[in-house]
Amino acid sequence: MYEKSIIIAIDGFSSTGKSSFAKRIARAYGFLYLDSGALYRAVTLFAMENGFISDGSIDVAGLQPFLGDLNIHFEYSQKEGRSLTYMGGRNVEDDIRTLQVSGCVSLVASQRYVRNFVDGILREHGRNSNVVMDGRDIGTTVFPDAGVKIFMTADVGIRAARRAAELREKGEECDLAAVLKNLQERDYIDSHREVSPLVQAPDAIVLDNSHMTFDDQMLWIADILRKKYGLEPIADEG
Ligand code: C5P
Repeated sequence: MYEKSIIIAIDGFSSTGKSSFAKRIARAYGFLYLDSGALYRAVTLFAMENGFISDGSIDVAGLQPFLGDLNIHFEYSQKEGRSLTYMGGRNVEDDIRTLQVSGCVSLVASQRYVRNFVDGILREHGRNSNVVMDGRDIGTTVFPDAGVKIFMTADVGIRAARRAAELREKGEECDLAAVLKNLQERDYIDSHREVSPLVQAPDAIVLDNSHMTFDDQMLWIADILRKKYGLEPIADEG
């Protein structure tokens, strides 16, 4: 057993493959995986469905009182072999990934009270277990003491093509130019907001995966975890 839980913080630009990478690390090393973006997306879905967002602005006073009662959590689905996002008893995993939600999420995530709400959920989970989390401010704000901090980036054109392919695979109509625009807008808002902007932590290791496969990335992290903690994968992460 480790004396203290190990935290791997993965931050970076939109659609750099942070969550796919984090999930594979979690499977390979038996860590808990937490997708902070899913929490921001779920709050956004709630705000959209309840009329708290209109014309690109958010009704802060209206939304805030509901946050305390929002039960957003993850449940592992044996059938799907992956963890799904729930809001109360409702599985919102697909609803939070649409381009409509992507179009509003950075606005919602720029609100301080929304960030405090999400940070509380993340810190609660990180207290007792080895975790890998992905987001925009995990290594800078949520867990500034994380033992391993990774900052992911990739060419924006490559990111847009990957994201468009993912959406099409799910059956969502999408146009590459619209996806590219959404990524650029989110990167801009995330990097320029006042509260916890997306910045590279000074002690983060940069991973530019523009021309890397998943297997290349796993070899890269394996080297880091072996040198720092003597850890070896406990499972085939494939
Ligand atoms: O990671 P994902 O793209 O699903 O995140 C959706 C959005 O949530 C991001 O564009 C960003 O605005 C916000 N986010 C954030 N801080 C995090 C994770 C996500 O602001 N830690």
